Amino acid sequence: MKDTSSLKIIQENVKTCKKCDLCDTRINAVPGKGNQSSDVVFIGEAPGKNEDQHGEPFIGRAGKKLDDALENAGLARNNVYITNIVKCRPPNNRVPNDTEKSMCSNYLEDELKIISPKIICLLGNTPFYSILGGKEITKNHGKIITKDNRMYFVTFHPAATIYNQKLGEVFKNDIKKLVNELQKIKHQN
Ligand code: URA
Ligand code: SF4
Repeated sequence: MKDTSSLKIIQENVKTCKKCDLCDTRINAVPGKGNQSSDVVFIGEAPGKNEDQHGEPFIGRAGKKLDDALENAGLARNNVYITNIVKCRPPNNRVPNDTEKSMCSNYLEDELKIISPKIICLLGNTPFYSILGGKEITKNHGKIITKDNRMYFVTFHPAATIYNQKLGEVFKNDIKKLVNELQKIKHQN
């Protein structure tokens, strides 16, 4: 049985968290959201303006790109879990710094422990670098990487596809590939 109550506790703790300086400039902290029984967790970088205003992850333009790619691959947003490396918006959407990432990391670790997904999809450089020490998404997208008994799938950040239709197609194909990989993993078990 997955412990759904503790996921709720994490979300409540995030909402009132003051562990790093981002709490001073945020409107709302943005806890992860979605299905706690999901086989896949998507990890982005940090909330943007829309997310900060509404307290929900990936609801702006990047979120629309993610939704479209999920739908195209037969995944409904409600059936997956979506979160970020840091849960509060950095001013002017700058990349979160090392202190912010490390102060916030226990929330992500707890989310992953509770959900225990079969695969974790890293969206763009910030999660790829923070979790796997990886660089150059362009060279590594579409790959599966296993670390500490967790399986990761690397792809672009959906925001990168907003003004780049070609990359949008690549991103959609990656998400399809992710779904295929997930099916394979499920059949192995
Ligand atoms: N970009 C992210 O990385 N996360 C969000 O929640 C929104 C935009
Ligand atoms: Fe807390 Fe994370 Fe927000 Fe910093 S970014 S205040 S650690 S929830």
